[in-house]
Amino acid sequence: MQRDAAYLTKNEPARNTCRFQYRIVLIPSPRKAQSGTPETCSTMTDCRKIIHVDMDAFFASVEELDNPRLRGLPLIVGGDPDGRGVVAACSYAARTFGVHSAMPCARAKRLCPQAVFVRPRLDRYREVSNQIMLIFRSCTELVEPLSLDEAYLDVSRNHLGERSATRIAEYVRARIFRETGLTASAGVSCNKFLAKIASGTKKPDGLTVIPPEEAAGFVASLPVRKFFGVGSATERKMQAAGIHTGADLLRFSVEELIQLFGKHGRFFHGIARGIDLRPVLAHRERKSLGTETTLHRDILEMEAVEAVLLELATELGQDLTARAICGKTLTLKMRYQDFTTITRSCTDMAGFSGTDELLAQLPRLVAATEAGRRRIRLLGLSVSNLLPKNALPRIPKQLSLPFSGQKHDLTSALKGMG
Ligand SMILES: [Mg+2]
Repeated sequence: MQRDAAYLTKNEPARNTCRFQYRIVLIPSPRKAQSGTPETCSTMTDCRKIIHVDMDAFFASVEELDNPRLRGLPLIVGGDPDGRGVVAACSYAARTFGVHSAMPCARAKRLCPQAVFVRPRLDRYREVSNQIMLIFRSCTELVEPLSLDEAYLDVSRNHLGERSATRIAEYVRARIFRETGLTASAGVSCNKFLAKIASGTKKPDGLTVIPPEEAAGFVASLPVRKFFGVGSATERKMQAAGIHTGADLLRFSVEELIQLFGKHGRFFHGIARGIDLRPVLAHRERKSLGTETTLHRDILEMEAVEAVLLELATELGQDLTARAICGKTLTLKMRYQDFTTITRSCTDMAGFSGTDELLAQLPRLVAATEAGRRRIRLLGLSVSNLLPKNALPRIPKQLSLPFSGQKHDLTSALKGMG
């Protein structure tokens, strides 16, 4: 098995096809299999060539690209620093102050008072994202986007006729830079878990390769919080069980791990050994479509609640129409002042495919909440059980016509339900 050919080896230096230097990290000294017992691909996973590509500080980098005066400054893309928004993305200059995404903007401003705050421009990010995804898809059909700025690529078979996944990763990074002016980091390995870990090890603008034979050694030294699926709750549980690194995980049998972590136990058992069988899913089905907003101040008045819901329903309805999809279940999400979060759902076999249908059901959902009695800090609307719009049988719908999408109509409708 000429597996090494799939990865960059010491004798096969990176081609410098781009203006910037590749920073290639090779996990040292691949151990050859004992002579006479050549290592073979015992499972499909060993043979796969997976790349994880992740744009560097994506939103912030797009802002710097479009406004060069921002370059090198501590830049934060997010909500109002004097309000209650959160950091959506930040430049590396901002990160040196301890700012990170999902942090409240107010806290980010305290950490870095000189930071420049800009509001997110999602349409622009989506536009660049489409360019990047096209580059990925020019290499392979098997592209699984995780968000606007990262994706897994299974290049075991690819359109380029290239055997080396590392060279494909170089090619992708160089093309992204040439066509968008932005840098990306990439990880190359034999499965999703390792490829994603790899892409994060040398950011920004890095390329890291974990050859399959080095996978187990690499995972052994890894802190458990870096593992896919380990949030802070699981991390605490692991630490309580004396599991701090991949090496600690190795001491547990699959049964013990299942007992500790439920269905994830088997996955942890696998990744501790560098094994992750999850396929790259090109057509990962979107499970829901929705929108939500944290309000500038907590609201109590029904008129204010209705106005926000009308806005959300309009946005979601337009999104559904634009995508020509509909969802059978509508969910209203409400977070009260004390952070208690509730959801109220209803299902309609005819599906929700536009603003009118959403508005028609909202009064019923709102009536099942404490809106008007408790202060609200966040409102959200989403639809799930998604289908292409034309996949549903035509059911004649009786849209009660007061709900034509006008604010006063929704208001009176909601009042009628109260
Ligand atoms: Mg990124």
